[in-house]
Amino acid sequence: MSKIKRLIILDLNGLLIHRVHKSLYVKCKPLFEEQYNLRNLPRPERKGNFAVWLRPNVKEFLEWLLKHFHVAIWSSVLYHNIAPIVEALLPDEHERPRLLFWWNQEHCFTEDNPTAIDPTNTKLFFKRLTSVWDTVDINERWLMNQPSNIDLRDHTLLIDDNKLKVRDNPIHTAIHPRTWKLFELNDDNTDIKIYKDKVLENDGQLMKWLEGLLEWNGTVSEYVEKHPYIDPPLEEIEKEPNNSWSSGWD
Ligand SMILES: [Mg+2]
Repeated sequence: MSKIKRLIILDLNGLLIHRVHKSLYVKCKPLFEEQYNLRNLPRPERKGNFAVWLRPNVKEFLEWLLKHFHVAIWSSVLYHNIAPIVEALLPDEHERPRLLFWWNQEHCFTEDNPTAIDPTNTKLFFKRLTSVWDTVDINERWLMNQPSNIDLRDHTLLIDDNKLKVRDNPIHTAIHPRTWKLFELNDDNTDIKIYKDKVLENDGQLMKWLEGLLEWNGTVSEYVEKHPYIDPPLEEIEKEPNNSWSSGWD
């Protein structure tokens, strides 16, 4: 077991949550309602302009992470969209300061996106680890109660479904689980596929991979290089069919 309490930086959207803008949610409300009634889909929480679903077992996963690692959240969305989600993930306000930091879009390196079509979405955001490593306060708090002569640069892992976001970082400082989606709507929003997911559960892929990191005595990048993270296959749930028509004819 490594004596070093490493830093795990988590993305939000596509890793811990699935969110849908209210305009799409309202448009597809009948489809969602049908799936809630059939118990194929849990109801989301309403957070600002979004319907938000928390990933199965996410709160227990965070609890476990906080026990074994320093944990931070870094999302490239706006601050006001992150705060209510962090509150939902860690409902106990005494728990929240246990996060080493929770950062938003303002902490990202920004570039113009030359291929942007949507005028409200013309920027690209990058999570540069140098921003973390060069923050004195983060280093100081991370170093508390740790073995001597260690460097945060050797013991930081970003977990983000988006590879582009970590473009500027040293190699093997991140892993990229498949973007988590609780469901997918078809192109004209008339049908829905719902997926099973156990990645954050106790015997799930991510926790197992992180347990290996806990045992590892080298640096994070050495571990990532030697143990590529591999997602389990994507599996759809067997949807409870809507039998209201047939039962009505009996
Ligand atoms: Mg993401």
